[in-house]
Amino acid sequence: MFDRKDLEELEKIKWNDTLVVSLFLNVSPQERKKQAYISKFKNLVKSITEENYNTCKEDIEKIESFLQSDRESFKKSIVIYSCTKKDFWVRYDLNVEVKDNLIIDKTPFTSPLFDLLDNYQKYGVLLVDKRAARVFQVFLGDIEEYGMVEHEDVPGKHKKGGWFALAEKRYERHIDYHVKNHLKDVIERFGDFLKDKNIRRLIVAGPDEAISELMNIIPDEIKQKIVGRANIEKYASKEEVLQKVLPIIEEYEKSKEKETVSELIIKTLKNQSAVTGIDDTLKYLRDRRVMKLVIAKDYAVEGFICENCGFATTQHIECCMECGNCVIKTDNLIEKATEMAIEQSALVEVVKEEKDRQRLLQYGGIGAFLRF
Ligand SMILES: [Zn+2]
Repeated sequence: MFDRKDLEELEKIKWNDTLVVSLFLNVSPQERKKQAYISKFKNLVKSITEENYNTCKEDIEKIESFLQSDRESFKKSIVIYSCTKKDFWVRYDLNVEVKDNLIIDKTPFTSPLFDLLDNYQKYGVLLVDKRAARVFQVFLGDIEEYGMVEHEDVPGKHKKGGWFALAEKRYERHIDYHVKNHLKDVIERFGDFLKDKNIRRLIVAGPDEAISELMNIIPDEIKQKIVGRANIEKYASKEEVLQKVLPIIEEYEKSKEKETVSELIIKTLKNQSAVTGIDDTLKYLRDRRVMKLVIAKDYAVEGFICENCGFATTQHIECCMECGNCVIKTDNLIEKATEMAIEQSALVEVVKEEKDRQRLLQYGGIGAFLRF
């Protein structure tokens, strides 16, 4: 898994005397049958120029032998950055599909990974009971565990005879006190974790008692992030945890997409800080007023882009309507819109659910919530 920090480090790489190979390749089990991905890779290699090929021959060979040999560890797709001359090799195994691509350039090609960071949400999972807590992060269909908190000083509950009832009651209060302290500590640490990882959505899991205690003391700021609850065994493996939370995430994202599309359409119709359709969206992107871009998955539209000022439109023009410079034709203005959105730190949401996707397509396939 990678973080924004990792990508920013990659972005800094630039050697004047040589080039970097960037490979994006789907290697899902279907692709692995009859090694289809190897022939795909060979086809990508054919598309590069002879000069680039000669510069990066060693990298190409290294990547190919890697693809042939290390198949066991593959997930859905693979990303490799290689420059053997500088002893540089970075590889990510991803649980999502990517667009197959092979690029040879002075710097690593990172924008598809930045896109993934923008388009996929991170989820935090908090598995808690009266003494212990485990914390996970789920991102891009993968899970990572970030340690366990255990408070051994919570005394165990001992069953005693009826005559002890009074003392028992006091004893229970004592337990409550320890449990509360434990949960308070967990929440504090968890809050820091969420901030550090920039996680905005949460799933909680654990026995009823612990969860209701937790809800009593959890600050609103964290409570608002909770999107679901799962039933998970205290000592479940990472994989088991993932299996339990993925359906919850999927369900949540579906409902979220529906909500987003409806809100976008209603606000646009009411003229309330939202627009739909590529031309209007591009206009507000140019004004840097977009807060969130909403796009129907796989939607593409042809148009023209000014190389000088970045003006873009679906209209057939020969000169830029802003600066008069020459324009170039593009087969996908949506890509341009996404680029502009990322540049101005707007969120990008891709609508994948077919019903909602169709609905958005009726309104131009793309839209934006505006800042003001
Ligand atoms: Zn222009």
